[in-house]
Amino acid sequence: MATEILIPHKAIRARVQELARQISSDYAGKEPVLIGILNGVVFFFADLVMAMSIPCKIDFIRAASYGSGMNSSGNIKLVKDIEIPVGGKDVLVVEDIVDTGLTLNHIVRALEARGPLSVKVCALIDKKERREKKVTIDYCGFEVEEGFLVGYGLDYDEQYRYLPDICVLK
Ligand code: 5GP
Repeated sequence: MATEILIPHKAIRARVQELARQISSDYAGKEPVLIGILNGVVFFFADLVMAMSIPCKIDFIRAASYGSGMNSSGNIKLVKDIEIPVGGKDVLVVEDIVDTGLTLNHIVRALEARGPLSVKVCALIDKKERREKKVTIDYCGFEVEEGFLVGYGLDYDEQYRYLPDICVLK
């Protein structure tokens, strides 16, 4: 399948720096726990954390829903849990793409049940086209209207993750 560049790596880098500055300022004096939703988030997560100017802890969670195609099954399961206890902590969930909102909604509710001080969300891409569950995105990298995106960690059937730009699959 062909890919077409939608957001070049340079623009991603600049936006990630802005997000990191904003998050560092909002959490100044605190030590948030950043929780990345695997696998697509890995490049964004690493770039974001390294650009921040405050201490933080990191952990990862993984939910299965998409399988190997382009459509969410809506049946979300946690297949890897975090290991850091988040009770009494400020939690920032970091997601690659919010599409229907089902995955993020499921994960935020699971984390809220563990008694954190706060739970906020940072998403690289907000894709509003197919939203089913209302989710609050506190920090958003880019809004994209439509299309299936790959690159910068995002895959289609485990392909294209290595591309440095965010591309649309044609
Ligand atoms: P949701 O539960 O919000 O429908 O979907 C969330 C997950 O679906 C994201 O974490 C992401 O892994 C995957 N997803 C949604 N849209 C896209 C897309 O355009 N490209 C890729 N590669 N994954 C997507």
